[in-house]
Amino acid sequence: MTEDQKIEFLSEKIKEIEKITQEIGAVFPEKSFKLDGILIGNIVEVMVSHAYGIRLYKQSKKTHDGEVVSDGRKVQIKGTQKVDSIVIREKPDYLIVEYLDKKRGCICEIYNGPGNYVWEYASYVPSMNFYTLRVSKLLEIDKTVPANEKIEAVVPIEKFCKGEIEFQGIQKEETSFKKQLNKKGKTLITGYVNRNNQENLGCLNKPGNHNNQVLYAMRCNNCGFEYEANGCDVAIRKCPRCSK
Ligand SMILES: [Zn+2]
Repeated sequence: MTEDQKIEFLSEKIKEIEKITQEIGAVFPEKSFKLDGILIGNIVEVMVSHAYGIRLYKQSKKTHDGEVVSDGRKVQIKGTQKVDSIVIREKPDYLIVEYLDKKRGCICEIYNGPGNYVWEYASYVPSMNFYTLRVSKLLEIDKTVPANEKIEAVVPIEKFCKGEIEFQGIQKEETSFKKQLNKKGKTLITGYVNRNNQENLGCLNKPGNHNNQVLYAMRCNNCGFEYEANGCDVAIRKCPRCSK
């Protein structure tokens, strides 16, 4: 397989895993069957390595996961399937944080830049001996990183955005996405979080149980429970598990 084929293969497998975990979760709603952190981390490392031309270290190291092939800059790679915060142990030279979109089997960039710029916002958790960084802060700081301090992607990578999505480099898709955004409203965009902390994980493309409604995958960001909702209800849904 070529490198591109390998990534395409991985993308398909992520979508399959996501489908399987949803099926199991539907049968055993009392338990969570989400992908765990190590698997997410490894998937994202492989995808980032391909997308940004980074050679991964064979032995996993504490501060950096790999280095940029063209210039040797050392990079810590973080993947997340949640949109609240990430865990990090030490200040890296460079940091790339990506959201793993399991529905589409792709990554979306949250932060790309020097570790320096975000480190003052890291909060130490003494009981765990690690730091956390909020995704919303990472997104905010990312906007201020000069282009020459970013690690240039070799394939186009979508920019992650809570509620509204920006695209980098793909003008055509950007236009059609904006049209979609105007037509659908922000509550139906993947990543939208309603006032009850319920997140829209994306359209399931199957009919809902109201007239003309389509189902969306939802997740409670308080307890992690995942369920389905009619499009018209995304903005107002509460967690079926927490609000019992
Ligand atoms: Zn809940």
